Amino acid sequence: MIANQLSANSDLQVLPAVGHLARPTQWAVRVEAVHKAYRRGGTTTPVLNGVDLAVAAGECVFLAGPSGSGKTTLLSILGCILTPDRGRVQILDRDVLALDPPGRVCLRRDQIGFVFQRFNLIRGLTALENVCVPLVLRGVSARAAHRRGRVLLEAVGLAEKMGAQPQNLSAGECQRVALARALANNPELILADEPTASLDAANGPEVMKLLRRLTTEEGKTAIVVTHDQRIFPFADRVLWLENGRVVETEQLASPSPAGVGAQRVEA
Ligand code: ADP
Ligand code: MG
Repeated sequence: MIANQLSANSDLQVLPAVGHLARPTQWAVRVEAVHKAYRRGGTTTPVLNGVDLAVAAGECVFLAGPSGSGKTTLLSILGCILTPDRGRVQILDRDVLALDPPGRVCLRRDQIGFVFQRFNLIRGLTALENVCVPLVLRGVSARAAHRRGRVLLEAVGLAEKMGAQPQNLSAGECQRVALARALANNPELILADEPTASLDAANGPEVMKLLRRLTTEEGKTAIVVTHDQRIFPFADRVLWLENGRVVETEQLASPSPAGVGAQRVEA
């Protein structure tokens, strides 16, 4: 119902047309042989050591793994926030490493919704204003942005908190504001870094139901980093990142690139 509200919301139509918003034909994400190391001073910390990954349009894939295994690093590469040292990254039919910096910014801004592990909300702005930031950056009028922002905050159960600033919200509330902001531009690809880590037993599954509806009913693609066993039943597949590689795939449903969702978890 929530997703229906979001998609039926005519405010989406106020978004300016973007030429490259065509649906991906098959794969939303393809990653081949991606390497990434952090260098600081004379120290090099290798993190990703040849990651291969393919996620079909419409899938909801979880990425798990020990703390420090590189989950946030990999998600940041998929979100065009970090650049790998080498390898190939294709997002929504775009070869990310072949794009110039403005091209990457547009891809990230217009087609990717990123839920940061530490929320990254702007202090001094209200919850509603935080959610509106991506819309305003795309040239949507303040009035239309507020309308859309209100729908999103209601969808994540924060109708009563729209005027509150992040410092006056609980971690779980901040997490839901961050999700609402990530959905503001109606992105094709949703990347969420531990989006239920601060949520209680009721709100964790609620957030996952929302994400599942967006993938199942609207064909969005979601990649969710999580340790949260409570929400594993919502995944099509769980990928495991260890020693710099995706080493294990647990097939929970039977997704296929063309017709994902035949055996979806009822959310
Ligand atoms: P995870 O999300 O799986 O916990 P991260 O991707 O955050 O892992 O980090 C992987 C490794 O890279 C960790 O050892 C972390 O300390 C290190 N790391 C992360 N970001 C940086 C950075 N900006 N500079 C140096 N090392 C980093
Ligand atoms: Mg992390």
